[in-house]
Amino acid sequence: MKIRCIHFDMKSMFPKVDFLLGMLDNLAEMGYTHILLEFEDKFPFESYPDAVRNTAYTKDDFRRVAEKCRQLGIGVIPLLQSIGHLHYFLKEPAYRKWSENGNIYQWCLSQRETYDIWTAMTDEILDIFPDCVYFHIGADEMSFKSPCPLCAGKDQFQLFVARVNECADYIIAKGKQPLVWDDVFRKHEFSESGDLLSKVIPCVWQYREINKDIIKRYAEAGIRYWAASRIQSNEHRYAGMGKQRPHLQNVDDWADIQAEYPAEGHIGTLWGRIQSLDPINSTLPQGMYVAAYLAESLLHGKIKDRHAFNCDFAKNFFGLPDLNMDILSYGFGNEPAIVKKELEKYLGKAPRNGEYLEIWHAFNEIDVLFGYVDHCFSSNQGLLSSYRKGLVTDGILNNWSDGVRITRERTEDLTQKLEATLGKVYPMPELREFMEERFMSMLEINEKWGEILRETASKPHL
Ligand SMILES: [Zn+2]
Repeated sequence: MKIRCIHFDMKSMFPKVDFLLGMLDNLAEMGYTHILLEFEDKFPFESYPDAVRNTAYTKDDFRRVAEKCRQLGIGVIPLLQSIGHLHYFLKEPAYRKWSENGNIYQWCLSQRETYDIWTAMTDEILDIFPDCVYFHIGADEMSFKSPCPLCAGKDQFQLFVARVNECADYIIAKGKQPLVWDDVFRKHEFSESGDLLSKVIPCVWQYREINKDIIKRYAEAGIRYWAASRIQSNEHRYAGMGKQRPHLQNVDDWADIQAEYPAEGHIGTLWGRIQSLDPINSTLPQGMYVAAYLAESLLHGKIKDRHAFNCDFAKNFFGLPDLNMDILSYGFGNEPAIVKKELEKYLGKAPRNGEYLEIWHAFNEIDVLFGYVDHCFSSNQGLLSSYRKGLVTDGILNNWSDGVRITRERTEDLTQKLEATLGKVYPMPELREFMEERFMSMLEINEKWGEILRETASKPHL
């Protein structure tokens, strides 16, 4: 595989620039040739400053990233969404006038200004990354429902195709190769897109089961494509580390498909948030193990022996031949208590890259806490009818009220620990936002249980 790319989704809680520069060394060593840099609100756009988050990188930060990539021989592929996924931009009161019929996910394609905005933002990005060979213009998950009065009555797909064409031509005129996500195109006959799919490279993303027929269609139409897998996500539960195994499976499945229908490139995606306004999902340092797994698969074909890979990873990445990556690989997001025990044997002892063990341990502590909370809440849910009937003993009541108190104390304690460990990696305002998302509703429910228990305790019971 010629192009081995990893996705940097900046809308997540994103590492500070110094940490990121170190990650680039690791990724280059794994064999990555490119990074796909999705800026969202973390690029300091001078033309549209309202859309810029206060934790955005500065232009100097990005120049450092560009320089580091140049030294490592890694290509930067900027990603600027051209049509949808624009919550980060259109949520701003000053910019809402450009939304499509009030839908801040995408902007109106009949308003000429929306194209001019995109080209102005593109120019600012290209000013920092003038050497990029590829430029990704997004164009995925577009909705054609509820057009505004200006767009109504027009063929919505053709309106979309025309705009993607214009953006692609703009990129080509700058001497770059445009990339798009393919999902909107795959839902139509390719002939309906005219010659667009010969000027852009569609990136075919499939993150769970892979539908081979989609790839076959591109191959039979003679359209070159890039594949996209997903290497990290918290979608099963918005807590700490997230499960790893579904992603290993996705990487394996793609290896089978690519053996049959070779792709020119492959992007391992790591979604920081599913949409801009969703909670923080997963972060780049959490994805380094599956990133290594994908790199190995792209370099040498499907990994036949996962256990052997895990042993090599422990030895090569951390210099810890005895670290049991089988336990971590299965246990992350599944068995936090077992993961904790394994990680704590090696904290502070890795000859290299030990910071990732600390980071994984910190995220895993969130899973440990949530495991405890599940234990308290789920039992309470089963016992609520007994509470109401007065059929609980003092002993049970005391036990559960201890659970409410301990949950609060452990969350306060963990908050301080996360600030001390993860605060070295991520900007503090983003870490605080992350902890608020993880802990606020959990603590409010915990307080409700406290109220129910106090009320029950004050009534007759056993
Ligand atoms: Zn419109």
